[in-house]
Amino acid sequence: MNPDRQNPSVIIIGAGMTGIAVAIKLQQAGITRITVLEKAETIGGTWRENRYPGVACDVPSHAYTYSFEPNPEWSSFFADGKEIYEYFKRVYLKYGIDQYTHLNEGVISCHYQQGKWMVQTTQNKTYEADFLFSATGILHQPLYPNIPGLDKFAGIAMHSARWPEKIDLKGKRIGVIGTGSSAAQLIPELINSEGTDVTVFQRTAQWLVEAKNKPYSEADKKRYREKPARMELVKKISLSVFAQGTSALVKDNLWGRLMHKLFAWNAKRYLHHSIKDPVLREKLTPRYKFGCKRVVMNCTFYPAIQKPNAHLVTEGIDHIEADGVVTRDGKLHRLDILVMATGFNPAAFMRPMDFRGRGGLSIEDAWQKKISASRSLLIPGFPNFFLMLGPNSPIGNYSVIAMSEMQADYCISLIKGWQENTFNEIEARPQAVERWRAMLKSKMSHTVWASGCQSWYLDKDGDPLTWPDTWKNWVAMMQAPDTDSLVTD
Ligand code: NAP
Repeated sequence: MNPDRQNPSVIIIGAGMTGIAVAIKLQQAGITRITVLEKAETIGGTWRENRYPGVACDVPSHAYTYSFEPNPEWSSFFADGKEIYEYFKRVYLKYGIDQYTHLNEGVISCHYQQGKWMVQTTQNKTYEADFLFSATGILHQPLYPNIPGLDKFAGIAMHSARWPEKIDLKGKRIGVIGTGSSAAQLIPELINSEGTDVTVFQRTAQWLVEAKNKPYSEADKKRYREKPARMELVKKISLSVFAQGTSALVKDNLWGRLMHKLFAWNAKRYLHHSIKDPVLREKLTPRYKFGCKRVVMNCTFYPAIQKPNAHLVTEGIDHIEADGVVTRDGKLHRLDILVMATGFNPAAFMRPMDFRGRGGLSIEDAWQKKISASRSLLIPGFPNFFLMLGPNSPIGNYSVIAMSEMQADYCISLIKGWQENTFNEIEARPQAVERWRAMLKSKMSHTVWASGCQSWYLDKDGDPLTWPDTWKNWVAMMQAPDTDSLVTD
């Protein structure tokens, strides 16, 4: 290795679970000239921002754990948001990532100039680096519904990902728009709060798979501490169930169809067994193929929605007034609080930064035709830049941690070439991105996402925003860089 090049400078945008993983992996690879820029006053990304009542992760806790930092102390099979946040904070401090991190420094612009990335922040500082990682997450910019009159609502209106630190729910009439994964966790907590009356505005009935939680006893934790292989086994089994689930969504072969039928049957069985009232059951019955939208995994929503203070409204929202929501049947649903559990813009990535690659090429121009990156990570015209969890990463029903780690390893293996002096700049060839898109398109036609529903898995042209193939094939692809796709200078 060239001694002058052993320790490249690296900037990481974002101190969420992905940014922390990248920083730790760089450190482990001997790269210590790291700057982590975090816009907020604390780390944690999605687990800092989502603090609505009931926030949790529907990926089992032992599978939602860094491979290098297993955690025998998880309190339950599925951990809640606060515990997950604390886990990441603990790891962040343990590995000393705080020494590299600048909090309250949002990135305004990133410009590639004369072989370096120049990054300007809200503190009016400019940082320079050889390599730049964007680890801003995918689902971080709330999507607000475009409903007439929303701005006229006189009560408290908020997005599920913008939950206030303090809010008095006691005795309140609360409306929730949306029935996705966030809503399914949140709604039961609202229904079970003292004296509330909760109206749920459902546009589309969701497929819901029962995900029973189980607390870990002290004896369980002791066993995990003493025999870490047990944790690894829980992780392996959990991830293999997720991998099977994904195969059922993306493979139109005999096995895929069989698995798809099995998962759908299991979800239907849970619905029938849980919801007693046939009218309510009918309203909650999904009308599209299982898995076309992100499957909701939950065990609190069905019991809660049958309580007397819960109302499921499926008439469709016409408009919003000062006093509440008016549905298409002309009925005014009077509300004190309106929660929009309406999801996120999945294509925001490092927007709204002024992001420019070689020759001042803006990301807007580069992505004019399509938001795309070779293997999700590298963009032509943006040398020495890695877009973590970029478009078509296998987001959906899988552990994001495993993905981030694998992508970090992949990028660090590319940086090795720079350290060995084999190149100064690395980026994707434009033809590689064309090939990548064509491959995604051809695989997409075999998936359940192309079966006619509307979801954030697809862009406005119906092309995939997620990975339309199996987890196994993604892992195989990530084992080694595809040198044909890369251009180095
Ligand atoms: P989401 O899955 O995008 O769901 C948004 C909900 O809002 C849907 O029910 C949607 O209805 C509804 N909606 C949107 N605009 C509407 C409008 N104008 N009028 C009426 N209804 C409207 O959002 P999310 O629940 O926040 O979840 C987003 C993603 O975050 C998930 O897909 C998942 O990847 C991740 N997540 C993960 C966990 C976890 O435990 N791991 C938990 C929460 C979220 P339609 O279905 O009709 O569009």
